[in-house]
Amino acid sequence: MIQENLKKVLKEIPAGVKLVAVSKMNTIERIQEAYDAGQRVFGENRVQELMPKFEALPKDIEWHLIGHLQTNKVKSIAPFVSMIHSIDSEKLLFEVNRQARKAERSINVLLQFHVAQEDTKFGFTVEEAEEMFAQIKMSNLTNVVISGVMAMASNVDSQDQIRKEFQKVKEIFAHFKKKYFLEDENFKEISMGMSGDYQLAIKEGSTIVRVGSKIFK
Ligand SMILES: *Cc1c(COP(=O)(O)O)cnc(C)c1O
Repeated sequence: MIQENLKKVLKEIPAGVKLVAVSKMNTIERIQEAYDAGQRVFGENRVQELMPKFEALPKDIEWHLIGHLQTNKVKSIAPFVSMIHSIDSEKLLFEVNRQARKAERSINVLLQFHVAQEDTKFGFTVEEAEEMFAQIKMSNLTNVVISGVMAMASNVDSQDQIRKEFQKVKEIFAHFKKKYFLEDENFKEISMGMSGDYQLAIKEGSTIVRVGSKIFK
């Protein structure tokens, strides 16, 4: 079943768009099933849930942390995590850099932006991110690669509303690309789109989709 779901989802994803299979709340056995079907990139939203899965599953899995991250939890994932999608403060960005340096590696990170109408969702506003860029010295960020932006659209039925939010994310990406990362080829990712809206997200310029329930239903 998982294998078939995965095939269906992959068929709708063009080359150049990366699929993160969101495995939260799924057992190690079920993740192994997706792995056996060829999937190598998985996303989890909680560190406590990610740790035992990392320990138990094959080591060539590329793990992405996609949920809100507390600074005191960075240390445990820094030795292996491939990308953190949910950087939402300067403090967190610098803690990831510090722990990556300790682990003698480099971690890809995305800046999460708040574009949804619900205020339960995390992320920078454009103004907050601007404030951060005004303050920080990029050359101090030796062990993180700022690779782009991430956002979640509102949980609504209106395709119009969701499309507008995705367009906003694309504009935010373009704004920061132009202002701070024009010469930096690493800043290229837009992580947006989940089970209910990834086709629309891809149309609007997503480069990474995070799909859970449609694969693991
Ligand atoms: C759970 C989750 C997803 C996947 O959601 P589905 O609707 O199950 O595809 C994507 N992104 C984040 C941040 C999540 O927490």
